[in-house]
Amino acid sequence: MVLYAGIDLGGTKLLTVLLNESMEVVGKSKVKTPVLESGDDLVLLMIEQIEVALASENAGTLEDLVSLGVTFPGPVDFTTGYVKDTPNLGVRDFPLRTSLEAKVPGIVVLENDVNAGIYGEFVAGAARGYKHVVGLYPGTGIGGGIIIDGHLYRGASGGAGEIGHMKIQLEGRLCGCGQRGCLEALASKTSLAKDLVHLAGTGKAPTIFEKAGTDIANIKSGLIKKSIEAGETEVQKLVEKAAWYLGVGLGNVVNIFNPELVILGGGLVEKLQPWMFPVAESTMREFAMPSLAAKVELKVAELGDDSVARGVAALAKEAVLR
Ligand SMILES: [Zn+2]
Repeated sequence: MVLYAGIDLGGTKLLTVLLNESMEVVGKSKVKTPVLESGDDLVLLMIEQIEVALASENAGTLEDLVSLGVTFPGPVDFTTGYVKDTPNLGVRDFPLRTSLEAKVPGIVVLENDVNAGIYGEFVAGAARGYKHVVGLYPGTGIGGGIIIDGHLYRGASGGAGEIGHMKIQLEGRLCGCGQRGCLEALASKTSLAKDLVHLAGTGKAPTIFEKAGTDIANIKSGLIKKSIEAGETEVQKLVEKAAWYLGVGLGNVVNIFNPELVILGGGLVEKLQPWMFPVAESTMREFAMPSLAAKVELKVAELGDDSVARGVAALAKEAVLR
C-alpha cells in the first residue's frame, strides 16, 4: 500500500486526508484546533490525527506513508521548514518539518494554504485537466496561486502569487500591507464588510444591522446573501462593486499569465456567486486583451473544505517524484 497524507492546519480546525496512488481519498479525520503548549505538542497531534485517518477506513499503517504535506496558519520559512512565532496556536519558532520527518517514514512538505487549495482543485476539482491556472480566494485578505504548465509556481523564495496586493487604485484605500489601493483593500471580504457596516449605520441594510449591528466580525457571507435576497439593493451594489474590482484584477492576471482557467474560491464567492460571478467575469473579459480574454474560462472552486488537505497531499506526492 502506498499512501500520501495531507494536513490542513487552520486556526479553527485540523483536517487530515490520506490519498492513494490514484489520488483518491482513502482516509480522513477532523478535529478542532486546540490551544497547544509547544511545537512538540503540535507534532504529536498531527501524528495522532494521521493514525485516526489511517484507522477510519482501514487505509493502512504509518509505514505505508510515502510523504506528508502540511499547511500552517502562520509565518513559515519554506527553505528551512521552520514555523515562526504563532501565539494563537501556542507554537514558537519551531523546526516543524524536521520534527515531523523524525516521526514519519516519508518526506515532509510545507506549503501555504492558498497554493495547496488551488493545487487541490488542479488534481481533483474545478481545474482538473487544465495546465495553466490562476486561482483567487477573496476572504480576510485575497490569496492567490499560480499553476504554470501543470506545476505550482512558487517564485524565487516561495512567495509568488500575492495577487491580492496588485495595485488597482493608486491612491485608494489603505491595505493591511501598508500600501494603498491593493486589490485586497477593495475586494476582500474584510473590505466589503467595512463598507457594509457603514451602510448598515445609515439604515440601508436592515437585515445586516439587525443581525450584526456595526461589528465587522459579525458580517458573514450568508448574512450578506440574506440581505440581498431581502431586496436591500444598496448591499447588492456594494457586492457588485467588489466583484467589479475583482474583475479588474483578473483582467490584469489574464494579461500577464494567459491562463486557460481562472478559479474563484472561498466562502464569499461561493455564497454570493449569483451576484459576484457575472460581474467579475464580464469585467475580466473587458479589461483583458481581446485575444487572451477569448481563451480564458472562469469557474468557482469545487472542493470546498477538503481542497487544502487534498492539495497539500498531492504536493507531497509530487515532491517524491521530483
Ligand atoms: Zn496590499
